[in-house]
Amino acid sequence: MQTQLADFIKDTPEGREADEILRKCVPCGFCTATCPTYQLLGDELDGPRGRIYLVKQLLEGAPVTEKTRLHLDRCLTCRSCETTCPSGVHYSRLADIGRGIVEQRVPRQGMDRAVRWALREFVPRTKLFGAAMGMGRAVRGLLPAKLKEKVPESRPAGGWPAPRHSRRMLALAGCVQPSMAPSINAAAARVLDAVGVSLQELPGAGCCGAVRFHLNDQDGGRADARRNIDAWWPAIARGEIEAIVMTASGCGTQVKDYGHMLAADPAYAKKAETVAGLTRDISEIVAGESERLAPLLGSDGTRPREKVAFHAPCTLQHGLKIRGVVEKLLGAAGFETTPVRDGHLCCGSAGTYSILQPALSGRLRENKLAALTEGGAARIASANIGCITHLEAGATVPVRHWIELLDERLHGRPG
Ligand code: SF4
Ligand code: SF4
Repeated sequence: MQTQLADFIKDTPEGREADEILRKCVPCGFCTATCPTYQLLGDELDGPRGRIYLVKQLLEGAPVTEKTRLHLDRCLTCRSCETTCPSGVHYSRLADIGRGIVEQRVPRQGMDRAVRWALREFVPRTKLFGAAMGMGRAVRGLLPAKLKEKVPESRPAGGWPAPRHSRRMLALAGCVQPSMAPSINAAAARVLDAVGVSLQELPGAGCCGAVRFHLNDQDGGRADARRNIDAWWPAIARGEIEAIVMTASGCGTQVKDYGHMLAADPAYAKKAETVAGLTRDISEIVAGESERLAPLLGSDGTRPREKVAFHAPCTLQHGLKIRGVVEKLLGAAGFETTPVRDGHLCCGSAGTYSILQPALSGRLRENKLAALTEGGAARIASANIGCITHLEAGATVPVRHWIELLDERLHGRPG
């Protein structure tokens, strides 16, 4: 795609990056067919190629309107289009650049502005979010249905094994996961402990930065990244840890991008690259330990195989490009994973999308739950806290993180 970037952007790092991305787009439109919002709305401007044109126009100096913002807001940043694109167009990065400009040119007003401000200020603060979740649970029965679905019932986390192995890894607690599902990181710690790795959460680390970054507070997202790096750096510098483990694929996608996020910060650029290089999704770690794990799981083929449908989060399959790994691990643990139609499509959670675009998000969830349950699964497994709680709110079967299912096979259900 030929571009003539306007003076305001052409000689900036963002302008050069956008220009390079735009030049790769042919523009063949293959990506349109796999875009969830195009499938729902049928409007070219609600598909990747249309959004690429919109960003190209604004970078070339065309007026920016609320309509431009509307079509960019409706994008889930699911990156399904990136998986489909034969030319390797880094759409999500282009969308970030475009959104940043739109945000400045067409400031938000009223409720839209207030809700986004509240999400940016509230969700990433782990303690504040945890206190609100506690209060929400106390009055859960009295909440209106729409609010109730954002407050999952609590379930026991089970014990966290004491550090006893020389092999050590760090885990990111994240912002909403400690209060919404503390069982996930505890299950990861127990599974890794069984294969000879001690997992530890360090105080000081919190939100990965994705919430603020994707609400166009890119400086706030960078501040979150710096805070996490500061929390982890002493252990990294002492050479004590093998990896930084992510149990939420959304956080993993963000932390693996720290090198890029902080490339222009001389004080953090190198550290950010090191942290990104050490970051692994829990599925990568467990797959690497599968030989140690197999005898512990004792799958002798006599145990009935529970049917489980795995929902691969967009951040896992399109962001981290990890595909088929979890299904194999569940199979090795004695579960039967059922086929899932349109597995590439987003469930509608997409960070804060379910709050900001509830109608589209709700339709995507309905479609996803129909696809996940048509194979007769007794439970749904996923790999990201956002997808898990979003699906759980509409599902008729339990929804869990897959590492909890593996932990169950090893240790029984936490009491
Ligand atoms: S990121 Fe997802 S929703 Fe956005 S344009 Fe690409 S496929 Fe469509
Ligand atoms: S982003 Fe890729 S698939 Fe989509 S129109 Fe451009 S080149 Fe084609």
